[in-house]
Amino acid sequence: MLIDSHCHLDYLARDGDLDEIVGRARRAGVSAMVTICTKLSEFDVVRGIAQRFPEVSCSVGVHPHEAAEEGQDSPDRLRELAALPEVVGIGETGLDYFYDHSPREAQQRSFRSHITAARETGLPLIVHSRDADEDTIAILREEARQGAFTGVIHCFTAGPALAEAALELGFYIGVSGIMTFKKAEALRDILRRVPLERLLVETDAPYLAPVPQRGKQNEPAFVVHTAAALAELKSVTGDEISSVTTYNFYTLFAKAPRPAAA
Ligand SMILES: [Zn+2]
Ligand SMILES: [Zn+2]
Repeated sequence: MLIDSHCHLDYLARDGDLDEIVGRARRAGVSAMVTICTKLSEFDVVRGIAQRFPEVSCSVGVHPHEAAEEGQDSPDRLRELAALPEVVGIGETGLDYFYDHSPREAQQRSFRSHITAARETGLPLIVHSRDADEDTIAILREEARQGAFTGVIHCFTAGPALAEAALELGFYIGVSGIMTFKKAEALRDILRRVPLERLLVETDAPYLAPVPQRGKQNEPAFVVHTAAALAELKSVTGDEISSVTTYNFYTLFAKAPRPAAA
């Protein structure tokens, strides 16, 4: 049993059949998925997918790319939507200075509103951070001093300083297909030092399909490849990676419904 802690089923639904995609995930042993909201204007679609499949939950949030258009200056709307039964996390939010699709100030403001919503609801924060290690660390630390919140750095590709700061703050590290890429040696070095009890696996589908599916459109079933690579990296069995990442997921995403067998 594995959990895809971060995917975008609404993107996959645009040119695919979700019944088939979720069916393949089931057959691959993926027992739960979180489909991640990137725009509040698309939230109803994302929530609808979570309502359609018992093993799918969703988040609520505005991606840093969308901060100029839809950035949140207050936590109110996020908090309100977070109360819905399908919503198990706040995000994805954070900072993306690689693409800079939105002004950095707007990204930061929206990031802080998401943090406030996470703190007030107790739901985990789903953080996207690309080429923004320093500001991500500064904002997380500063906000943590205002009151505790928890979360995950999803699709972790940052440097060791952000990994350390995240662990110190009690955060989890989301491992995506990138760790299977030949060139990702620096990332694997960091992951070797992250304790097992802080790791989650994810696809971030439709992006970043892991080896040996690289180049294809990613989908939740492919999380098995990332889990297998992670087991090898950590010198543990596949079963151990499955059980520890599943346990971690339900510890962090405590609102996510557990399948009857879990
Ligand atoms: Zn992301
Ligand atoms: Zn994402």
